[in-house]
Amino acid sequence: MAELPNGKRSKWTVRASDMANRTHNPIRAIVDGLKLEPNPDKDFIALSLGDPTLFGNLSICEEMRETVCDVVNGMKSNGYGPALGLEFARAAVAKQFSIPESPLTSKDVVLGCGCSGAIEMALLVLANPGDNVLVPWPGFSIYRTLAGSYQFEARGYKLLPEKSWEADLEHMESLIDEKTACIVVNSPSNPCGGVFTKEHLQDICAIAERYHLPILSDEVYAGMVFPGHTFHSVASIAKNVPVLTCGGLAKRYLVPGWRLGWILIHDPMDAFKEEVRQGLMNLATRILGPCTLVQAAIPKIFTDTPSEFYTKSMDVFQANAELIYDALSHIPGLFPVMPCGAMYFMFGIDMDKFVGFNDDMEFVTKLVEEESVFCLPGKCFEYPNFVRIVTSLPKEKTVAAVERIKDFCARHYCGSADMAEGNGIK
Ligand SMILES: *Cc1c(COP(=O)(O)O)cnc(C)c1O
Repeated sequence: MAELPNGKRSKWTVRASDMANRTHNPIRAIVDGLKLEPNPDKDFIALSLGDPTLFGNLSICEEMRETVCDVVNGMKSNGYGPALGLEFARAAVAKQFSIPESPLTSKDVVLGCGCSGAIEMALLVLANPGDNVLVPWPGFSIYRTLAGSYQFEARGYKLLPEKSWEADLEHMESLIDEKTACIVVNSPSNPCGGVFTKEHLQDICAIAERYHLPILSDEVYAGMVFPGHTFHSVASIAKNVPVLTCGGLAKRYLVPGWRLGWILIHDPMDAFKEEVRQGLMNLATRILGPCTLVQAAIPKIFTDTPSEFYTKSMDVFQANAELIYDALSHIPGLFPVMPCGAMYFMFGIDMDKFVGFNDDMEFVTKLVEEESVFCLPGKCFEYPNFVRIVTSLPKEKTVAAVERIKDFCARHYCGSADMAEGNGIK
């Protein structure tokens, strides 16, 4: 029909590629599909967006701003950089993240376009089409998006809300087969705000070691933990397991739009050998690295950022998390799980106890209609009857939002009220 006899096209039928058609970001697909009609009498509060810069209460430090301006004005960073990243920028990343258990040089660092770009390269160097990768469930949606594009199977290992979002190790182990390419670990985590203890990471490393599987550790929230919790990089624990650690400036430095990320290669057993390093190099040549202006600013960003900068945003995330936890744990029918770090908060909903909605999608839609508050439905993480909210809003907005969630739940609650005290998980 559309073909000439020799198979050439006889009319315009330009199709999107199979790969493009296979590529879906569940958050976009699900959120864009919701019909959201906010209550016109109440200002809209989006608790759904994992971008800490959106509300104006958190922004980059003066030192960073000046550093990037100096780079721009210096006119020396406008050309192509090496595909793996500018040598002095890679050296700065190596220095920043070297630890005694995992000393790094610039050769162990690959720069990428955002932490997402780093994750893409790390997955691509480890997995072939038809392979499976173990990912946290609920987990950051990009792992599944990339898996869909490249025909990897993303197998979710359960995180347990009743255990502060620790991984279900038995479940993780049960998913491993001869096609498993790597285990993806994310601590501190999105969407849960879970932080794995040293012992828990040791247990995960033991599984990886038993099956000789490399770990892809997404540490974009490195160091972003609340007092009383400790951040451990997987590389500091993985004595006998190779690890590709993916990180970036996005969250800790409050610049997700700058698109600067990295891979740190930790290979204590020489398991990656030259091949994986060369593979990363090959992959880096596809797009020749991230923006050189930001790359060139990295050394000073690391050395000049005052420590108060980090604590200021963590204080905001923690204060909001506590405020949300205190409020939600007294709302019958809700089950908040206190995060240990990052900038998110998950709470469960006992759907049987509410009238007017039957699942997380209907809960968030109705909450927008009545209270103009938008939470991200758990469906985005294939985790029904939970919702994710962010802890990065100004305090007044967070207070207003939880107050409205409380009113909303009170109006729709139909169970007995004897659960009203302390139904949260800390
Ligand atoms: C935000 C986020 C990223 C993406 O970082 P970019 O640098 O913006 O690409 C990666 N992993 C997790 C878990 C995230 O929440």
